[in-house]
Amino acid sequence: MDFTSPHSEKIDIRSLPLEEMGEFIKSLGEPAYRGEQIFVWLHEKLAETFDEMTNIPKKLRERLKESCELKNLKVKTVQRSKLDGTEKFLFELYDGNYIESVLMRYSYGNSVCVSSQVGCAMGCRFCASTIDGCVRNLSASEILSQVYKIQKETGERVSHVVVMGMGEPLVNYENVTDFVRILSHENALHISQRNITISTCGIAPAIIKLGKESLKVTLALSLHAPNDEIRRSIMPVAKKYSMEEVLSACREYFKSTGRRVTFEYCLIGGVNDSKENARELAKRLQGMGAHVNLIPVNPTEKNMKPSDEKSIKDFKDILEGAHITVTRRRELGRDIDGACGQLKRRML
Ligand code: SAH
Repeated sequence: MDFTSPHSEKIDIRSLPLEEMGEFIKSLGEPAYRGEQIFVWLHEKLAETFDEMTNIPKKLRERLKESCELKNLKVKTVQRSKLDGTEKFLFELYDGNYIESVLMRYSYGNSVCVSSQVGCAMGCRFCASTIDGCVRNLSASEILSQVYKIQKETGERVSHVVVMGMGEPLVNYENVTDFVRILSHENALHISQRNITISTCGIAPAIIKLGKESLKVTLALSLHAPNDEIRRSIMPVAKKYSMEEVLSACREYFKSTGRRVTFEYCLIGGVNDSKENARELAKRLQGMGAHVNLIPVNPTEKNMKPSDEKSIKDFKDILEGAHITVTRRRELGRDIDGACGQLKRRML
């Protein structure tokens, strides 16, 4: 980034990785260690104003106010599930757009599901996030701030983050990878990259690129079908990248990172949940050390029918019989429309 040319726009300082922060601070004629101090204020102490930064000289704080912006999120509503205590946060962004994030409490810690875009353009037939299309990408700061705000609001430490809210993270590649680098930095919240999951609908070239970033994040692939024909009928992205291309990108990801890919499979009654579908899926995933997350499709305006218990059990048994590890994902926060595929950019 060139900080020396005159800026028409203010700098989104919370989006700067530490090295860029250092360069920016140096461009103001200040010593680099000030950059580190500001980074700690923003990403470890979760400051929302420059005036909180008490070890930064007042004059520098004033300069920062002039040249930078802190695009803080506003909490509009918080809904709490009566079923499982899951909480859904509706946030207002600086430009009036809305996004949602979800806090789930597990025995191993608190996990936050963040959005990566305002809306989504991928058009999956079963998902509510895509109903109004995609307005824009979120900046690294806006993705980080979802975690920060939730940690501050609840006073509870967040230990896991899944990029599984609204949006397709690999379409917003730069901001999402900056987000991971900042979130896991030792001078920030220092959330282990192993505890960060990025979920994608299968942008094959971006999966390969991500594998080469030397990040240790978990990749989840939204597969949802045993073959191209079914996949194309429910996920438009499958017309662009075939299942073979996507699976081969996942194999490459595994090779470069040593991290196993998780496959997400939502079961839709009569669409992708037959025994034959299970057998075909098992065959496709043979030898990949695959882990499959099964999830009965959650209700949305799209009116997809979830599978019945018998079909879910049969499907699971067939995969396990083929030595594939299977977990059935709990449908947390369903009663507050906070479960997979239920997040939207509208208040209604
Ligand atoms: N765009 C990324 C990130 C979204 S993650 C992706 O597609 O992976 C949200 C997950 O919930 C995805 O696996 C998505 O396919 C799944 N999902 C969407 N709608 C759903 C629904 N109605 N029921 C269950 N899962 C759903």
